[in-house]
Amino acid sequence: MSVTAVTGSASGIGAAVCQQLREAGHTVIGIDRQHAEVIADLSSSAGRVHAAEQVIALSKGKLDGLVCCAGLGVTAPSSSLVVSVNYFGSTQLIDLLQPVLAKGNKPAITIIGSVAASQQAEQPHPMVELMLNNDEQEARKTADELGHPHIAYAASKYALTVHCRRLAVTTGSTGVRLNIVAPGAVETPLHEASKNDPRFGEAVRNFIAPIGRNGQPSEIADAVSFLQSSQASFVHGSVIYVDGGMDAMIRNGSL
Ligand code: NAD
Repeated sequence: MSVTAVTGSASGIGAAVCQQLREAGHTVIGIDRQHAEVIADLSSSAGRVHAAEQVIALSKGKLDGLVCCAGLGVTAPSSSLVVSVNYFGSTQLIDLLQPVLAKGNKPAITIIGSVAASQQAEQPHPMVELMLNNDEQEARKTADELGHPHIAYAASKYALTVHCRRLAVTTGSTGVRLNIVAPGAVETPLHEASKNDPRFGEAVRNFIAPIGRNGQPSEIADAVSFLQSSQASFVHGSVIYVDGGMDAMIRNGSL
């Protein structure tokens, strides 16, 4: 039986992923701040180390899958917290769990990015380079100086996507597949909070995908389930947009 760890398991997309993986026969180790097998705060290095230690113990040192869903949106208390959870909360956990994943059966990692990363593609914000250089302290400082959480959010998801695609190239020979799912607007508590935010609510409500509706968490989980399955055995380093056409719209049809 496959053992898969899922961050952000208590809500939204992460909860839908857990449900589908359990239905497909995986043993799931949920990681979240509450209501999870592993209670951990992924905003700090110590919290990520604690999460990894618990996962390694529960999986007996052999992990078949990792899905990183934990994330904060534009209503997060600070931009620095967005950087720490969205970028380092995934990248450090991947580093810590790579050795046990390499021992797994057809191991695979899926990261939840965002279509918001497309907004950074033309001109990434300088904090992206700080994240990619693994400088959490300076990236947090730059993010807070800037103030706008929506820029930190897009930058964190862009940096996460670039980091994971680079990692897919350098670690491909370990046999651990690594892919990114980039959702558009999905009906979860995170999105609900964005819609109701006095600063961003109107823009979020008016940002409608070409398909004419928002997605459901299960529609993102469908893509994750595929990527974590042996049906995706040759899919590696890919970004799969599950966004009702938003990326195509943002990029005006170009790649
Ligand atoms: P959600 O708020 O429903 O779930 C996020 C989960 O992450 C929560 O259970 C929360 O407790 C957990 N989490 C947050 N900070 C944490 C921390 N410090 N330590 C441990 N766990 C923490 O949100 P969601 O919409 O399901 O978001 C899941 C992922 O999807 C996020 O990475 C988000 O950026 C991404 N995403 C969401 C949308 C959308 O429209 N909902 C769009 C694009 C990308």
